[in-house]
Parts: sequence; structure tokens; C-alpha cells
Amino acid sequence: MSDKFDVIVIGAGPGGYVAAIRAAQLGLKTACVEKWIDDKGTPVLGGTCLNVGCIPSKALLESTHKFHDVKAHAQVHGINASDVQMDVKQMVARKNTIVKNLTGGIAGLFKANGVTLLQGAGKLLAGKQVEVTAADGSVSVHAAENVILASGSVPVEIPPAPLTEGLILDNAGALNIDETPKRLGVIGAGVIGLEMGSVWARLGSEVTVLEAMDSFLAMADQDVSKEGAKLLKKQGLDIRLGARVTGTEVLDGKEVKVKFSDAEGEKEIVVDKLIVAVGRRPLTNGLLAGDSGVELDERGFIKVNEQCRTDMPGVFAIGDSVRGPMLAHKASEEGIMVADIIAGHKAQVNYDVVPNIIYTHPELAWVGKTEQELKSAGVKYKTGKFPFAASGRAMASNDTDGFVKIISDEETDRILGVHMVGGIASELIAQGVIAMEFCSSTEDLQMTMFAHPTVSEAVHEAALAVDNHAIHIA
Ligand code: FAD
Repeated sequence: MSDKFDVIVIGAGPGGYVAAIRAAQLGLKTACVEKWIDDKGTPVLGGTCLNVGCIPSKALLESTHKFHDVKAHAQVHGINASDVQMDVKQMVARKNTIVKNLTGGIAGLFKANGVTLLQGAGKLLAGKQVEVTAADGSVSVHAAENVILASGSVPVEIPPAPLTEGLILDNAGALNIDETPKRLGVIGAGVIGLEMGSVWARLGSEVTVLEAMDSFLAMADQDVSKEGAKLLKKQGLDIRLGARVTGTEVLDGKEVKVKFSDAEGEKEIVVDKLIVAVGRRPLTNGLLAGDSGVELDERGFIKVNEQCRTDMPGVFAIGDSVRGPMLAHKASEEGIMVADIIAGHKAQVNYDVVPNIIYTHPELAWVGKTEQELKSAGVKYKTGKFPFAASGRAMASNDTDGFVKIISDEETDRILGVHMVGGIASELIAQGVIAMEFCSSTEDLQMTMFAHPTVSEAVHEAALAVDNHAIHIA
């Protein structure tokens, strides 16, 4: 057995690698175990987010947004760009370069902070020992004062649509399509399905999104989901709600017949590629020895409390493998909290202000409570809304779709939720997050000076609108 570590982290995704760096920064002797290797046997760091999630999807969204924006809107600026072409292979190669640079950067950060990287599959044994089985089959056991489980998640597969090389794809496969499919099917109108559908719709694919639920983005404020549905449909996404996929058939090894049922009965469509984006499940296979002392809940997540402590003292779990939204920033904040707790500091994650973003164009973003949630909880609230169509900067940018909406407590004026649809809502939502983190009232935002002309002024105006005092709308 090797020297004892203060902390061993299993998994080097945005939960695990951030936890490991923070722990090492706090002077703890830290190791991080990662099993993912590339075709040369080098450990792949950054987990789902950097390799097959947040970053590559945003690279493709950015490239296709630029292409589509020039093609659809250049003329309005007086720019003649009639013969704009997209080189899809170059777009995918650019995405791969970004991923390589970022994941390589984490190896550098580990080195700089003194984190020991252990290549292999980690398994928590009894007594906070970690067994690591390397790719070459060698096994080592390491002892730790504290263990952080950060094994992440994997895509859910559904029996009616088994993954089929090049044709029926999960999120990883979807990121490597290197030719625009004429017809694209997407199962699931969640964040990943809508983002991937948008990428290919912008390049000219006929995109059909099949969603089993009857409502669109039920978790979002109704104003956001309604506006989002309207705008995405306008962009050509054929979103079918209440459409339950019952089977698929590969035709001549070239296309996929997708059978589904909806309120009108049995239906089918034929597509060139089908993306399965029906959600993700925690990855805990082989992670825990029977006597590790760590329990899973009924849905397969590692059981933890608010501080991410498992049932076994000194063992924590964070990120996608535990309850809560499957988001990179939530995983990272939990990683920081746990490292701080281990180092003896007081730390907590404020789960009431986790921002949610869907990076379509316009983007959909929100933090805090929706109107539906407040209504059903019987909370009295007031709202203010400001459309980007009334923002001078949004007009200058030719990006006037959407709005900012602020909800605050009717009695105390404290901000309870911020919801938006807009070109850069992913950036603007941070203003709502900061305001809510500091328990601001709408009056605080009303009295804050925002630079002119900026789209951020819509946040100011929405706060003013809560008291019917917005300046630029009647
Ligand atoms: P992961 O990132 O899944 O990392 C877990 C790591 O642990 C992996 O590297 C895995 O190989 C390793 N591992 C697992 N078991 C073991 C073991 N036994 N031994 C050693 N290593 C192990 N989130 C956002 O916030 N914003 C976005 O824009 C966004 N976009 C996304 C787009 C897509 C297409 C997808 C699929 C996801 C997206 N997400 C996004 C979600 C985000 O990627 C996850 O929430 C995040 O990666 C979770 O981090 P994690 O560290 O918990 O797990």
C-alpha cells in the first residue's frame, strides 16, 4: 500500500477535478483517480463536461449560430454574404481542438497544484481505502483520510432505440456527426435534445423532436417555455409533444424508421440520424465495494446530505452521481464545498440559486422560483417583465427576441426568481444569481446604475417594471 492521502477523489469531471485542485490548494495531500483514457492510453480529464458535454456542444452551437446569423441576417446590416458555406468537418475539428486544449490544461493544473493523478478505475473499499485498477490490469490500493466520489453520469438508453453505429446516437455520437443530415430525429425535448437539434437545424437539417411529455420544458417558468417553444418552432424545429417512441428500424443500413404514438395514434418518421437525448443516470458501476458503507438511493444516486456527506464518515459524493440538477457548475461548487469542509472550513452550497441555461438561440435561462411554483406554494408575488424589442442595444445587435422577467415577494420585495429568453441570457442570468445570492430586493436592482447602451439594461428595466416604473415600455 502506498502513502496515505488526505483526500482521494474518484473521477476527474468538473466535480472531481475542481475538488482535487481546491483540496491541494488548501494544503491537503490529494490524489485524483480517473479511468477514462484516450487511444494512446493517456488519461482523459474533464469528464463529460469537457469531453462530450458542455464544451463541445457549445463549440458547435457557436459555429452554427455564426453561420446561421450571417446567412439569415447579414443583409439587414448591409453585408452581402450570399454564398456562405459551412465546412462541417472543419467545424468538428475546431471543436476537437478546443476539447483537447481544455482537457490538457487540467493535467497542467494538477501538476501546478501538486495533485497526484492515478490512472485507473477507482473502487471504494471498507475503511476509506481506494482500489485502483489501471488500464494495463495492475491493481494498487491507496488509503485516505477522506474520499470524494465524483463518478458522474452516463446517458440513459431506451430499448426502443438501441444505439447503432453512425445512425442512432447518444450525446457523444451526436457531437461527432461530420456531415449535415438531411433529416434528423431527436428523442427528448430537454436541454441536450434542443441544443443538438438547434445545431443541425441551423445547418439545414429537417429536425423532428419527439417528446413523450405533453408539456414543453415543464421545469421552466411558463413564460420562458412558451416563448422558447414559439421561437424554436419558428426556426424550423418540429417539436412533437406527447410523442412516445415505441420502436426503431434501421433501413438498408442508411436510415432509421422511428415509430411513435401520440394522441392521434401510431405514427412513424424516417430520418438519416437519430439522437437519443432522454436524460442521464448516475454512474456507480464498480465504484463501491459491498462493505464500503456508502448507500445508494432508490434512483441509484449516491445518498448524501446537504453537505454531500455519505452514510460513511469521511466519504463524500458530489456532482451528477448525487441528487440535484445534473449541471457542471453545481458539481464544481459541491467539489469546492467538500474540499473546504475537509480542510476544516465552514462551507455550503446555496441550492436555491443554481442557474439553469439552455444554449439555443435565443438562450433560455433562469434562477430561483417559477410563477407556477410560487402559485402552488401560495406565496404572494409581483412580477416585472421587459422585452428586448424595447432595448436599444438589442436592436443595434439585431437580437430582439425574448425578455427579462423578475419575480419578487409581494410583501418584502425580495427577488424570488429571474427568468429570461434572449441572445446572451446565459451571461445576463449571472446578474440574477448575484442579486439573489445577496438576498437583493427589486429595489436594490432599481437603484443600481447599468451602463448604456447594454442589453443588461433589460434587467434594470424588468426590476423597475415590478413596480410599474419601467421607463422604456408603456
Ligand atoms: P462527469 O463529468 O460525468 O465526470 C465523471 C468522471 O468520473 C468521468 O471522467 C468518468 O470517466 C470518471 N469515473 C467514473 N467512474 C469512475 C471510477 N470508478 N474510477 C475512476 N474514474 C471514474 N452542464 C452544464 O452545467 N452546462 C452545460 O452547458 C452542459 N451541457 C451539456 C451538454 C451535454 C451534451 C451533456 C451530455 C451534458 C451537459 N452538461 C452541462 C452536464 C455536465 O456535463 C455534467 O453535469 C457534469 O459533467 C457533471 O460533472 P461530474 O464531475 O459530476 O461528472
